[in-house]
Amino acid sequence: MDYLTFAWIDLWSINLPAPVALGVICVVGYLFSRRRTAVLEDNSTARRELKRAKAVAKELEKIAELLRRDLASHHSSIERFKERITNIGTKREDASWQDMCKEAEEMLRPTLRLASQISSAYDEIRQQTNHLMTFTEVRTDALTGVSNRRALDETLESMVAMQSRYEQPFSLAIFDIDHFKKVNDEHGHLFGDQALKDVARLIDDTIRETDIVFRYGGEEFVVVMPNTPLCGACIFADRLREVVHAKLELTISGGVASARESDDPQSLLSRADAALYSAKAAGRNLTYHHDGDTITPSRELLGMPVGAGV
Ligand code: GH3
Ligand code: MG
Ligand code: MG
Repeated sequence: MDYLTFAWIDLWSINLPAPVALGVICVVGYLFSRRRTAVLEDNSTARRELKRAKAVAKELEKIAELLRRDLASHHSSIERFKERITNIGTKREDASWQDMCKEAEEMLRPTLRLASQISSAYDEIRQQTNHLMTFTEVRTDALTGVSNRRALDETLESMVAMQSRYEQPFSLAIFDIDHFKKVNDEHGHLFGDQALKDVARLIDDTIRETDIVFRYGGEEFVVVMPNTPLCGACIFADRLREVVHAKLELTISGGVASARESDDPQSLLSRADAALYSAKAAGRNLTYHHDGDTITPSRELLGMPVGAGV
């Protein structure tokens, strides 16, 4: 029997109203899963958790509202019942009647205790949700909804540390929208903002579950790819370039680099940035990679014909 079934039977047996019992189970389940994810927390887990934070908060608010209402009416009916027992108890002399009143009060005690525990659990949830929301907000780009520069700095710090300690390879790619100034100049800033949101959404839809997308600057995005060697990152970068070209009315250029043992976040970003610069210089709508020594088109590494760009 799992803890949820157990909790359900136990709560049912003391006659709690269904929504209150359900709420308690949700509270226990939520706290239980938080404890487990805290242990597992790496960057990809954290990212998924960030994404779900708002949805979780909304659900919890709904449950909390239900709980609050039921708890209040449950509490007052218990109090009324208690009062009635006490009143009757003082009027009747009969010993067995007194015993029965005592017994009823004993039976009510755990219910009252549970009610106060639910109330504290509710406060705890509110607190945890607020923390989660703050954590999410300061690491999310307000315009596009993807992770921001601060989140990137933190992620790279920990990934570089993981790489040198556990030799976990990872790669990253920087993408920059081509001639974006012209998009703004010709169609206005609001149109430009929408284009940025579209690009962010498309990147997010194209990456793997374990990859992370960040807005790096104005019209620049970084994708961090855990457990991905240079070759795999080049395949992804060129595929994304093609997808953007096919689905949106603009193009992107990309620069790819893989983490090396001697890297810090800055040196890794610099290599990818240098590759991006080469892609721009070669005509745009291209992806280049930096292998530590030289910068060449990604398609060359993949044995594909190198396009002329735009
Ligand atoms: P290149 O192909 O060389 O990258 O040319 P570019 O025009 O994209 O590059 P440049 O750096 O000259 O211009 C970047 C433009 O991005 C300028 C700026 O107006 C625009 N931009 C930056 N942030 C935002 C934003 O939040 N919203 C909008 N609408 N535009 C932005
Ligand atoms: Mg730029
Ligand atoms: Mg640009």
